[in-house]
Amino acid sequence: MKRRNTKSKEQVLQIFRQENTALSHEMIQSKLESVERATIYRILNRFHEDGVLHKVTGEDNKQYFALCKNCENGQHKHHHLHFQCLTCKTVECLENEITFSIPQGYQVQDFQALMTGVCSRCA
Ligand SMILES: [Zn+2]
Ligand SMILES: [Zn+2]
Ligand SMILES: [Zn+2]
Repeated sequence: MKRRNTKSKEQVLQIFRQENTALSHEMIQSKLESVERATIYRILNRFHEDGVLHKVTGEDNKQYFALCKNCENGQHKHHHLHFQCLTCKTVECLENEITFSIPQGYQVQDFQALMTGVCSRCA
């Protein structure tokens, strides 16, 4: 049982490495039909908690997950924009770091920014 779960975790991670874009639960489910829905949810939430993935809500109100690239030791740095293509619906992390300022006394825990438009593949 435990072994199977480990295998599924590896498969999910593998998909993220191959795709290089943000992925929704649905997209992962369609690539891993043999894995139960609830198991995929559990894996995604676990990766999110462990700081392997970060979440972004798409223009379609769906949750997308993307691999964390510049996060270290539980310190998340998601100061980048996300881009959702309105044609193919793909959500991507744009690597360019953005800076922002917030009023004194506020502490930032998470940062989600979404841009929509047409990606280079659909343009
Ligand atoms: Zn992160
Ligand atoms: Zn596109
Ligand atoms: Zn991102």
